[in-house]
Amino acid sequence: MDLLKNEIKFLSGVGPKKASLLQNELKVYTFEDLLYYFPFRYTDRTKFYSVNQIREDLPYTQLKGKISSLVTAGEGRKQRLHAEFYDSTGSIELVWFKGVKWVKQNIKPNTQYVLFGKASLYNSKFTITHPEFEEFSKYESKIKSSLQAEYHTSEMLKKGYVNSKAILTFQRNIFKALGTKIQESLPNYLIDKFKLISLHEALINIHFPKNTDLLFQSQRRLKFEELFYNQLTLLKQKKLRVNNTKGFVFTKVGDYFNNFYKNNLKFELTNAQKRVLKEIRRDFGSGKQCNRLLQGDVGSGKTIVALMAMLIALDNGFQACIMAPTAILATQHFDTISELLEGLNININILTGSSKTKQRRQIHEELENGELNILVGTHSLIEDKVKFKNLGLAIIDEQHRFGVAQRAKMWAKNTNPPHIVVMTATPIPRTLSMTVYGDLDVSVIDELPPGRKPVKTYHYFDTQRLKVFGFIKKQIQEGRQIYIVYPLIKESETMDYKDLEDGYESITRAFPAPKYAVSVVHGQMKNDEKQKAMQLFIKCQTQIMVATTVIEVGVNVPNATVMIIESVERFGLSQLHQLRGRVGRGADQSHCVLMSGYKLSKEAKKRISTMVGTNDGFRIAEVDMQIRGPGDIAGTQQSGVPFEFKLASLTKDTNILQIARQTATEIIENDANLEKQENKILLIHLKKINKHKNRWGIIS
Ligand code: ADP
Ligand code: MG
Repeated sequence: MDLLKNEIKFLSGVGPKKASLLQNELKVYTFEDLLYYFPFRYTDRTKFYSVNQIREDLPYTQLKGKISSLVTAGEGRKQRLHAEFYDSTGSIELVWFKGVKWVKQNIKPNTQYVLFGKASLYNSKFTITHPEFEEFSKYESKIKSSLQAEYHTSEMLKKGYVNSKAILTFQRNIFKALGTKIQESLPNYLIDKFKLISLHEALINIHFPKNTDLLFQSQRRLKFEELFYNQLTLLKQKKLRVNNTKGFVFTKVGDYFNNFYKNNLKFELTNAQKRVLKEIRRDFGSGKQCNRLLQGDVGSGKTIVALMAMLIALDNGFQACIMAPTAILATQHFDTISELLEGLNININILTGSSKTKQRRQIHEELENGELNILVGTHSLIEDKVKFKNLGLAIIDEQHRFGVAQRAKMWAKNTNPPHIVVMTATPIPRTLSMTVYGDLDVSVIDELPPGRKPVKTYHYFDTQRLKVFGFIKKQIQEGRQIYIVYPLIKESETMDYKDLEDGYESITRAFPAPKYAVSVVHGQMKNDEKQKAMQLFIKCQTQIMVATTVIEVGVNVPNATVMIIESVERFGLSQLHQLRGRVGRGADQSHCVLMSGYKLSKEAKKRISTMVGTNDGFRIAEVDMQIRGPGDIAGTQQSGVPFEFKLASLTKDTNILQIARQTATEIIENDANLEKQENKILLIHLKKINKHKNRWGIIS
């Protein structure tokens, strides 16, 4: 029996109470789980400070000295223990709120102690609450490494006496109990090729680093393993899917496509658009189901590509649909596409949450008898009631707003899944798309249509508003239109509404009717009111659009050349980039003005300077990931795919990820089922990982 499979309660020093804490708080069930609970940092436990060197900004301090003047104060639950700690340079105060009795009994007078903790200033005296302490003689006999692991714990754990030091002791006890070496999880040929240290060595040194070099080696080894198995899982799944699902074969390009290309397309496609269209067509002809992510910065012209792909589906006798995350966007797609398809005799309709019953019934009917060629809509499309006669291609726009679950529902629309193209304008850092969307093929439109001038971006403080108003007036004189956007805070919709209302009032005062006309759109308006306001702006009957972030995605009004963003400090980077993408869609020079107060956090400053400094969506996405961490970004995509790693960082370990992906790709290409002798170990380990996940799934 493998010792590492033992329940954690059987580990020396743990017991049932601490075991249940470890399970509930850290999801640690077995010895092995604990071994894979890694430290978050290492402290140098050979370095000592003297009392007069203490500063409040030190994350922790280690001191050497004596403890005296123990005094208890307060009664019952309010009881606490004060003591003085001193060395030759001065003294500080120590406080305990818990374990008072134990501390009092165990501290010896006139004995050298090693004290460890975070010092804070109270009433101009440094104080350490609940310090770790140990007699210096014992400390000396024990520490061999200057790097002592520290583990995250929780309040609950600490209450149950499972602090960082206790976890370190548990780790030591595992290695003491271990009779043999920990079984290797990677095949020898990979270990040799990448000069990795063994799993056994790595796990020892991640908890008890003998020196910094070995610590680095073990981190590298464990990060590789983590990323490699992530990639292997994704690529194996993908291979399985590709092998097991047949795709509709679209053999020809017919009249719909050709007539559109000859008569309706008013511009030359960019090279990037042509390339992507080719990639999609290759999928269509391959006999495999197409599952492709189409990435392209805002304004790069994804809609046309999507439309032309749909026309190929129509040419082969199939229906197509396009799903957008909001009714505004769906309506806009419907309008654009209807206009583009004029004269081609294509039956197209739109279905949203606010479609009338009569229209709904007609759509259902025409979908099922095959009269309807293209359906545009919102989530309403994936409702069970909506049945197609033969759906050949589904386009999902702004994929980041939808989850994997919706994509899966789209799959189930036919007995044979339709081809699926998901489009996103949110540039995803490559490392993230490799892990989160690792099972999709990716096409990138990395070129804007010709003649576009990059949007100029400026930052102004609220006090400079008059200057900004002057600029708006000049632009309107030249016939341009303006967006003014206010932040939308979910937690406080009323407050957000007030911001917008106040803004609207001051705008209408500065830009009075009849000379100026102002539209307003916000989340509390009914759908058709929103549509009406949008239409006024699209038809250039209003010059200014005051809005919340409802216009963030997809809205396309080429004559709008100025985007003013109010309270810019309250927006995230990717949101700002999306908003800026609403302008710069025509041939005229566009501008983006970021308004803020004087008080700005470090991160807000970084976001603003990034926006002012670059228009490159991928660059912005990288900075965004550095600021927020990959978890947050992926979190908003509700992906459900593993993206958070224990050790590997998607911002810092891009090299390791690249190697891991490359390696996994080669292995799956040559041995998809991992049947070769040298790959058996991979299969065993993959199964083990997935079993873990299932167990966690059941328990939580
Ligand atoms: P996005 O990728 O953000 O969805 P759209 O598809 O809305 O971009 O396209 C933005 C604008 O660019 C539209 O007005 C579209 O008609 C125009 N456009 C797309 N492709 C080209 C092209 N090759 N040449 C000129 N204009 C184009
Ligand atoms: Mg779009």
